[in-house]
Amino acid sequence: MDTPFFDAQALDGLRKATRTDPEQVRLLRNALLKDFEPDAQGLARAPALAPLSLHPLVLEQRHDSKIDGASKLLFRTPAGLLTESVILRIATGRTTLCVSSQVGCAAACRFCATGTMGIARSLSTEEVLDQVFQAGQLLAAEGRRPRNVVFMGMGEPFHNEDVLVQVIERLIDPAWFNLSPKKILVSTVGITDGMLRFARRFPSVGLALSLHSVRDEPRQSIMPIAKRYPLPQLRQTVQQVNTLQDRPVMLEYLMLDGVNDTDADADALIEWTQGLDVHLNLIPFNPVDGAELRGSSKARCSAFSDALKAAGRTTTLRHSLGRDIEAACGQLVKRENLARARAADRTVVP
Ligand code: SF4
Repeated sequence: MDTPFFDAQALDGLRKATRTDPEQVRLLRNALLKDFEPDAQGLARAPALAPLSLHPLVLEQRHDSKIDGASKLLFRTPAGLLTESVILRIATGRTTLCVSSQVGCAAACRFCATGTMGIARSLSTEEVLDQVFQAGQLLAAEGRRPRNVVFMGMGEPFHNEDVLVQVIERLIDPAWFNLSPKKILVSTVGITDGMLRFARRFPSVGLALSLHSVRDEPRQSIMPIAKRYPLPQLRQTVQQVNTLQDRPVMLEYLMLDGVNDTDADADALIEWTQGLDVHLNLIPFNPVDGAELRGSSKARCSAFSDALKAAGRTTTLRHSLGRDIEAACGQLVKRENLARARAADRTVVP
């Protein structure tokens, strides 16, 4: 079997066995993980190390948005499962890469296609890193590079915490990807103990909390896992994270018509965030196949955002990229899995 590139121990064993100079390994890593050179070009830096297995994932499909700068990448794992990453080319020239930490997700949020798949399998460290590697190579061919890496794809990162920690360590390691910790953001439904461990370990890596409501009833109805992490506990956790990290916690708030978007909801959110170092991120809803939830109107989103800003809360009203390529988490994989299952005339959990 070829030596896996991301397995540092195996790679070092191969280096010793082939009497390769450590400097060549350094050049190889720099070429592939910092400059994102194509495989053959990078491998030429250390020819004695061939055969080396660079990619645990196979890029199966690429969908480029025709209306904005988003691309969705569908990857197949060695076990034959599909996972996905999204490249967001923001108008300012910045490039953000959204990666997945799992296939499917046990959190089962009602607004998310991934949560309705009925499966959950954690990706390995190598499989998450390879998403950054392969997306980086695609971007390098366009003269771009991934500036920000966000864990907002399929999966709850703290349900795969050991892998998450190893991935971040590699991403910020000067000998590997050498990304700035400040450019990495991990989004969670609010696994409070995991958030605190993470904040202690990575004081500069961002945390985003999927909040979506500061009233227990609507929050628990759209996020069943919220029952385990009540809002007072979440607020206390954000407060503690504030003391451990040198950046605000991002609060994600999906704007859902009639669920969490009234003036009373805005007032409650203003009160809940009083005294916290947070950045509110209001997200228009990308409808998911079969979901009965609807997004708030543009006017409601603006009024909600204005109320928060008037109260002195740092607020961004985002616009959704990639609507035409089903860039929201899990949509394309779910559709692909259903299509395959139908083709194979099998029944799947919808
Ligand atoms: S929104 Fe995130 S945590 Fe919730 S089901 Fe989807 S992938 Fe899981």
